[in-house]
Amino acid sequence: MLIAQLRINSHELRCETGCWKRPKEAWEESVCVFCTSGKVETEKHFILECEAFKDSRDNYINILTVSSWNNLFSKGTMEKLGELIIKLIRKRAELQKSVCEAVCPIGYCYSRGH
Ligand SMILES: [Zn+2]
Repeated sequence: MLIAQLRINSHELRCETGCWKRPKEAWEESVCVFCTSGKVETEKHFILECEAFKDSRDNYINILTVSSWNNLFSKGTMEKLGELIIKLIRKRAELQKSVCEAVCPIGYCYSRGH
């Protein structure tokens, strides 16, 4: 289900939520706050690129070295990919809590589940 959510963009990565800012951020401003790449936090950045989640990817390198983003969602890798995404999302929630506490003194964002 997580994979399906990612595929239809109904997840909570910043490229979708524009979290922490009102009014909603422009897409290109939804920069990943977990690393210093300055890249928009897309699904691809989150799963494959973001340095902040490097350690979480260690056991999944073999499924991540695919030739294209679309191949990543092929049937053979679904189970492993699902595991990885759960791991990444947990890690992200932890990191997000600390980022939120740092940028949002009243903890508004985190308490709203962003
Ligand atoms: Zn990042």
